[in-house]
Amino acid sequence: MADLVVAAKEGLLCVPGDFYIDPWLPVERAVITHAHADHARAGHAHYLTAAPGAAVLRSRLGEISLEALPYGKKIIHNGVTISLHPAGHVLGSAQVRLEWHGEVWVVSGDYKLDPDGTCAPFEPVTCDAFITESTFGLPIYRWEAQQKIFDDIRHWWRRNAEEGRAQRAVLLRLRQGATSIERYRQCRRSHHLPRRGQRTQPDISRERCLVTTHSERE
Ligand SMILES: [Zn+2]
Repeated sequence: MADLVVAAKEGLLCVPGDFYIDPWLPVERAVITHAHADHARAGHAHYLTAAPGAAVLRSRLGEISLEALPYGKKIIHNGVTISLHPAGHVLGSAQVRLEWHGEVWVVSGDYKLDPDGTCAPFEPVTCDAFITESTFGLPIYRWEAQQKIFDDIRHWWRRNAEEGRAQRAVLLRLRQGATSIERYRQCRRSHHLPRRGQRTQPDISRERCLVTTHSERE
């Protein structure tokens, strides 16, 4: 059987379906894996994305013709069965499952296997072919377990607090930021940290901490 998805100049093209996945040039129909700027671009005539990410996509692209599909729900377009499944990356991120004449291909943008509480956890999807366009997807990248990373941050915060040093965490809003803020909330509940964007007063505590989010487009 011929390839279900090919690389065209506009982006990844589902040939029998005649639609694109995260295209980088304007097209008639685009399936968007998630709302990060390197996957969701303006200028397409019609958009399809996972329902939990619809508001994020609209907030970034404005008024667009958008169909929001709940995770797992199947639709058929030009004979290709399409369904979206959690990629565990950011709110609304999806793997795109395509079924055509009994063959299944899955196309994903970024994905993350560790659940972090900010979005639906990654769902393994059985397929004949898997394509991913993931920023840190190459095998050369190796990451510490999330718990280890956040333990390191917490120790850094405690050490600074004990030494009376001010500290500041700047977070990208829709990437590490969402995860970090969620962990920060958990940490604040258990360690009485100041609220986001709030400095503790020196007469209340020697501990000073400011957490801000970075609004740069990701
Ligand atoms: Zn992303």
